[in-house]
Amino acid sequence: SQLVNQIAAGEVVERPASVIKELVENSLDAGAGLVDVEVQQGGVKRIRVRDDGRGIARDDLALALSRHATSKVASLADLEGITSMGFRGEALPSIASVSRLILTSREQDADQAWQIDAEDAQPRPAAHPAGTTVEVRDLFYNTPARRKFLKTEKTEFRHLEQVLRRLALARFDVGFKLAHNGRQIFSARQAASLVEREKRIAALLGQSFIDNSLRFEHEAAGLRLWGWVGLPAFSRSQADMQHFFVNGRMVRDKLVSHAIRQAYQDVLYHGRHPAFLLYLELRPQLVDVNVHPTKHEVRFREGRLVHDYLFRTLHQVLADARP
Ligand code: ADP
Ligand code: MG
Repeated sequence: SQLVNQIAAGEVVERPASVIKELVENSLDAGAGLVDVEVQQGGVKRIRVRDDGRGIARDDLALALSRHATSKVASLADLEGITSMGFRGEALPSIASVSRLILTSREQDADQAWQIDAEDAQPRPAAHPAGTTVEVRDLFYNTPARRKFLKTEKTEFRHLEQVLRRLALARFDVGFKLAHNGRQIFSARQAASLVEREKRIAALLGQSFIDNSLRFEHEAAGLRLWGWVGLPAFSRSQADMQHFFVNGRMVRDKLVSHAIRQAYQDVLYHGRHPAFLLYLELRPQLVDVNVHPTKHEVRFREGRLVHDYLFRTLHQVLADARP
């Protein structure tokens, strides 16, 4: 029902940034090569996410807007090894319950695109290239209490931009575009080579991060860790340049933070916040992402092993970098 969806929306949709996260993750799950985001007034007035992914069939459009309809997890067994970003099937219905949402899509081989307005959920023919566009207007128009908690346009946009930057750091194989009130904010093409990746990182985190960091790659016993670690000259007064991704998903985790902090403190740092951009890859079965709807948290099946691997690897990398 509408009410159940609005309650779920309270968990999933806090502000425009959370809408962006859910919509762009859906695009990534659909195998998009390009995700094009346009927003107006910090995303409160309008958010439009367009992708060139596999699209949605006419008869599945209404289903995509109904609760717990996910095309991504067929069984409980699948939940044990999730590789997609979404799996709960509650983002679209939640967003639709607190906004005016229009879904337009065309499957890769289809000769016709279809559109539904969440209001009446009736598919109508539309013009659209292969892929999907989700348009979300007037966020929280029908939940004034929620709307009241929104900050200024500038602040909401800052949060939204932050989310998209992180997604762009998580997925070098995908191109991203962002425009706000008709002005292009960034445009990152698919980055396959190291040079292209570092260009993207420089655009998103600043050239000084690339200039003051060390790139490394390490693999052992089914765990792979790679990325860029900031050198002491680049340590920060705030923990604002710390990015950690597990299997392409941004993660905040106490265990991970502890291991990284220990490694830095042991080798180089005294109290300041290091900058880092790290990617951990391991078998999906070893990570439980089904902890919280917003999925910033994970639980490692072998927590101790992951902690020790992170600590030892970073310790080694940083010790080798010491002048
Ligand atoms: P979840 O991502 O957890 O499956 P959502 O509510 O976010 O749930 O999306 C519901 C369903 O709608 C997805 O499982 C998928 O089948 C479809 N869908 C949503 N966005 C897209 C998209 N951009 N491209 C293709 N399919 C999509
Ligand atoms: Mg989703």
